[in-house]
Amino acid sequence: MQTILNFIDGRFAPAASGRTIDNPEPATGEVYSTLPDSDAQDVAAAVAAAKKALPAWAATPAEERSRILLRVADLIDANLERLARAESIDSGKPLALARSVDIPRAAANFRFFATAILHTRSDLHQTGANVLNYTLRQPVGVCALISPWNLPLYLFTWKVAPALACGCTGVGKPSEVTPMTAFLLSELLAEAGLPPGALNIVHGRGATAGAPLIEHPDVRAISFTGGTSTGAAIARAAAPKFKKLSLELGGKNPNIVFADADLDAAADAALRAAFTNQGQICLCGSRVFVERPIYERFVDRLVEGARSLRVGDPLDAATQQGAVVSREHHAKIAAAVEQARRDGARVRCGGGPPSAPVSPRCADGSFYLPTVLTDAPPTCAAMQEEIFGPVVTVTPFDTEAEALALANGVRYGLASMVWTRGLDRAHRVAARLEAGIVWINCWMVRDLRTPFGGMKDSGVGREGGDEALRFFTEPRNVCVQLREHTP
Ligand code: NDP
Repeated sequence: MQTILNFIDGRFAPAASGRTIDNPEPATGEVYSTLPDSDAQDVAAAVAAAKKALPAWAATPAEERSRILLRVADLIDANLERLARAESIDSGKPLALARSVDIPRAAANFRFFATAILHTRSDLHQTGANVLNYTLRQPVGVCALISPWNLPLYLFTWKVAPALACGCTGVGKPSEVTPMTAFLLSELLAEAGLPPGALNIVHGRGATAGAPLIEHPDVRAISFTGGTSTGAAIARAAAPKFKKLSLELGGKNPNIVFADADLDAAADAALRAAFTNQGQICLCGSRVFVERPIYERFVDRLVEGARSLRVGDPLDAATQQGAVVSREHHAKIAAAVEQARRDGARVRCGGGPPSAPVSPRCADGSFYLPTVLTDAPPTCAAMQEEIFGPVVTVTPFDTEAEALALANGVRYGLASMVWTRGLDRAHRVAARLEAGIVWINCWMVRDLRTPFGGMKDSGVGREGGDEALRFFTEPRNVCVQLREHTP
C-alpha cells in the first residue's frame, strides 16, 4: 500500500485531520494507495506557504526560474518509465499511451514555458512627442491550479509550468481519482531546487479541498480544467471576489467528414479521436457526421476498427484500450448507452463490458468496449451531453449547411474536425464552426504556442503560449510625461 502525501512549504505531510481516501486501481478494482482527505485547514497552510514564497519567487530572475523548470523537465524525462507506469496504474490508461503521450507532454510543458519566458517582450506606446506608455507584466500572485483525472500529469503541468514560469506561486489540487503522478511530481520539484512554498500540492475531494481553495481570499487567480457544472460552481464562487479565471470545461466535439475526403485517413483518425484514452479526452471526436454518399462505408470502417481495438490489461504493452477511470464512471457510461438505446440509437458494436475478463488480474476492472452508435436523434442526450467514455455517434448529412447546423447544435464549443480535399470548403467551414479549435484533415496535432480552449459551455479564456503568459501575469500601464528639455 502506497501513501500519497500533501506537499506544503517543501515538506510532505498527511492531512491535518489524519483522514485519508482510498485510491483504487481501475484495472483491478483493488485499493493500492491512500491519499490525504484534505480540508480547509490544509488549504490554508498551503496558501500561506505560497503567499510567503511569492515575493522571492516573483523577484527571481527569469533565467533562474527557467533553469529550475528545465531541471524539472529533465527529471520527468529521467523518470519516464516510473511516471508512465504510475499513471497507467492510477488511471487505467494503457501504459503505451502514458509512455508516449502523457509523460513526454508533461516534460514538454515545463520545457516550453521555461524557455518561453526568456523570449517575451512588453508593449510600448508613444503618445504624441512627450508621453511614453509602457506595459509591465507582473505575476498575478497566488494561483489555484485544479486539474481533472483524464490526463493527470499532462494537464496538471499544463497549469503548474506557466504559473511558476511567470513568477506566480500556487496551490495545485489534482483530481482525487488520480493523485499519484502529482505526488511523484512534488518529489521532482523538490529535487530540482524549487524553493519551498512556490508550488504546494493539496490532495483531496473537490467539495472539501477544491472549494476552500478557490474561495480563499489570498488566491488571486484560478486555472481550472474539469466538468462544465464544476466550472459553473467555481465561476459563481469566484465572481464576487473578482478573481482571474481560466475555465477549460467539457466538450462534445464534432468530426465532419465530407465525401471528397481521404477516406482512409479520415476513418483512422475518427477511430483514434473517438477511442484514445477510452474516449476520456476533452478533445475526443464523440460525434461523427458523414456525408451521405460515403456514410454506410464509413460506419462499416469505424465499426470494424472499433472491434479490432485490443481491450486489455493497461500494463500489457499490446493493449490499446485500458480501463475507464472508476467504477462510478463505468456506471455513468453504461447508463448513457442504455439511455441512447431507449432514445432510438442502434448499437453497432460494443455497448457493454467485455464478455469475459480481459485477464485474470483484471477480473474486477472497469472495462467498457469501444461502442459505435448510429441513428441517434440529434436532440437526444447521447448527441448533446458529454459521455466521456469510449462511445461515438455517427450521423449522415446531405449539405454543408446541415453539417454545420448539426455540429454547432450543442451547448459546447471546444474542438472540431473537418475532413475534405476542398480548400475553400475547409476554410469556410473552419470559420463557421463554433469551436475554439478546428483541426482540418488531422486530430490532436498540438503546437504549445497556439491558443487552447473552448467557447460556449466549454469554457472561458485560453491556455497555451502567450495566452497562458498573459493569464498568469497582470498588465500594468506606466505612463510617463517627458518634460521639454530646457538648456
Ligand atoms: P470535475 O469537474 O469533476 O473535477 C475537476 C477537478 O475539480 C477535480 O480536481 C475535482 O476534484 C475538482 N473539483 C470538483 N468540485 C470542485 C469545487 N466545487 N471546487 C473546486 N474544485 C472542485 O471533472 P473530472 O475530474 O470529472 O474531469 C472530467 C471533465 O473534465 C470532463 O467534463 C472533461 O471534458 C473535462 N476536461 C476538459 C478539458 C479542457 O481542456 N477543456 C481537458 C480535460 C478534461 P475531485 O476529482 O477530487 O472531486
